Amino acid sequence: MIIIKKIIEVINSENNNSFLVVSHTSPDGDAVGSSLALYHSLKKLGKKAEVSINDEIPTNLLFLPGAKNIIKFNGERFFDVIIVVDCSDLRRVGIKNIQDCCKILINIDHHQNNENFGDVNYVKTNVSSVGEIIYVLLDSMEIDISKNIALNLYTAILTDTGSFRYSNTYPSTHKIASELLDRGINPDEVYREIYEKKSLESLKLLSLALKLLKVNKDKNIAWVSLKNEDIKQLKVEEKDFEGLVNYPRIIDGVEVAVLFREKENNLIKVSLRSNSRLDVGEIAYNLGGGGHKRASGCELSGNIQEIEKLVLNEIEKYMYK
Ligand code: 5GP
Ligand code: MN
Repeated sequence: MIIIKKIIEVINSENNNSFLVVSHTSPDGDAVGSSLALYHSLKKLGKKAEVSINDEIPTNLLFLPGAKNIIKFNGERFFDVIIVVDCSDLRRVGIKNIQDCCKILINIDHHQNNENFGDVNYVKTNVSSVGEIIYVLLDSMEIDISKNIALNLYTAILTDTGSFRYSNTYPSTHKIASELLDRGINPDEVYREIYEKKSLESLKLLSLALKLLKVNKDKNIAWVSLKNEDIKQLKVEEKDFEGLVNYPRIIDGVEVAVLFREKENNLIKVSLRSNSRLDVGEIAYNLGGGGHKRASGCELSGNIQEIEKLVLNEIEKYMYK
């Protein structure tokens, strides 16, 4: 509670007028939705606010109010306050020395391995998403949650909980979602915008992924490896990879699912998911990434087959420990 008071004090202070909200590269619904909700709220308070994500915004999130105002900050201006959301460490922001671009750095996050890099750190792990934290913050500040803010927060929560399916769906999550629906959000319309405007090519990618699916001999680890040369032939975009890792995860008996994806030659994005027992956040952290108990990831450089072997070995160590 004391930390929330400190954040409110920093936001309300007359000495602080220029604000920048930033989130991580490879942005997801929580990164974009939470940043935009905060950006709209700061503007409502009469602050000079900007929002930056140093990467492409997935096209299925461009319907979010304010998404077109997101800039790519290059680290060459100074703000009174920078608020970093949904980032376990500053490297995820993709802006060098961002901590030197402001008087006060605020860190708002829900990842278990958060490095507490801010001057003020508000890290809560028993919530679904940063969207949930921002809702509580706005509620404490008695800021009127407009439909635009509600739509951004609802999207943050919806996407980080896999549509209220994952183990990070708490009673608080449904209570807050209910409050947001009261602001006039249509859940069917949001769902359709995010998940049901698939291209034919993205279904071909799914077909390829299912063809490449493998399991270990005990059938408790399942994975898909997508090589650059295979993906290149399909006209797919960033958002089309989202959710692919869930297919190996839903096989009965599988505890850990992995998606290996060669983004560029020899740069491999690894997505890890677990069902009930293994802490894949810890496994990813040991591989230089991070995340949560049930969903995590990292990026590794090297040959995709060798990385596959390395990561699967690491998972087996935890599986049979
Ligand atoms: P996804 O597999 O959907 O990209 O990511 C799942 C979770 O793992 C997210 O919470 C995300 O923040 C975290 N994550 C994914 N990639 C990385 C990474 O390279 N570094 C860190 N620290 N976390 C990651
Ligand atoms: Mn998140």
